[in-house]
Amino acid sequence: MEEDFVAEQGKTSISKCTNCGADMVFSPKRGSLVCPFCDSEKAIKVATPSFRDFFSSASGGFVETGKAGYRCPNCDGLVKVEGFSTSMTCPYCGATNVINLSEFKGLKPDGLLPFTVSQEEAIECGRKWIKKKIFAPSKAKKMFSPNEMNGLYVPSFIFNSDTTSKYEGRFGEEYQVEVKKGDQIVTETRVRWYHVSGTWNRDFRDIVVEACSKTTQRQMNGILPYDLQNAVNYDKAFLAGFSSERYDTSITDSCNTAKDSMQQTIRNEIIRHHNPDRVDYLNVTTTYKKIEYEYLLLPVWQSEYPYKKKIYNFMVNGRTGKSTGKAPVSPLRVLFLVLGIVAVVGAIVGAIIYSYITSGGV
Ligand SMILES: [Zn+2]
Ligand SMILES: [Zn+2]
Repeated sequence: MEEDFVAEQGKTSISKCTNCGADMVFSPKRGSLVCPFCDSEKAIKVATPSFRDFFSSASGGFVETGKAGYRCPNCDGLVKVEGFSTSMTCPYCGATNVINLSEFKGLKPDGLLPFTVSQEEAIECGRKWIKKKIFAPSKAKKMFSPNEMNGLYVPSFIFNSDTTSKYEGRFGEEYQVEVKKGDQIVTETRVRWYHVSGTWNRDFRDIVVEACSKTTQRQMNGILPYDLQNAVNYDKAFLAGFSSERYDTSITDSCNTAKDSMQQTIRNEIIRHHNPDRVDYLNVTTTYKKIEYEYLLLPVWQSEYPYKKKIYNFMVNGRTGKSTGKAPVSPLRVLFLVLGIVAVVGAIVGAIIYSYITSGGV
């Protein structure tokens, strides 16, 4: 079969066990490379990455996509790389190939957070997560068995920025008046409008923007936070036995996502500060005085589980076990909850009417 890409040699590497020659894999429990056959261990040297200045170092963020192929150093077989992958398993010999850092085009990862949650623990986290889903059918909870847990390092940009914002807007305060309508007196709500303006200073730290083709920002937000202060310098030893990807969104676009999120926080804080009853409009102009970023790989356990011919996915934070995902909804459970609420409201209204009647109000 003709391949539509060139297979290159010496561009990936495999960590071999010095004792028995098997492929070593990273162990989340031991934080080192471990041989699955003879249990030999190899320590990984760690150092802390540091932030880079966005304005002086962001190159626009070259994004590379498409197919590539590598010759497996173990069996010489052709390993296909789809999309943004940087580590993959050889389909012929099972060796865990990791692309050498020098082969990455564009930005190189500054560091990563190694997995500390093991695969078994991640499955357990998923089980606890679905148990707490009140609308999920109990059958789905009992049958929950994820297909394959994929340990994936998600390329993410971490942003810091000091901001100053000028704002101006029109807020309203509600007040009640009693007005005569025919021969009845009714209470009406009116609004007293007023203008606001000022300056808002806010320093942001550790805003996580995922840049992975296999995850969404919404999913990522569901498993945040990460203990980013514990990130270590990039070392491919951590990737052995795990999947990893390159960024699929440029640093500039990712920075805009971070700015949108900062903007939202600033708006919310200004509104909360003035505490109005109504917001007519609020204009905010923000200056980002200093933007720093770090390109980190964050550990995520990803999986899917089947239920009634449909596939649902879930994700587990590889450091904390915090889980997020989609769960099936049982229409019966929703109905029971609605009926329950109706019954409670009915009982309260009934009790109020009853006390009203017994106190001689009618
Ligand atoms: Zn060994
Ligand atoms: Zn191979």
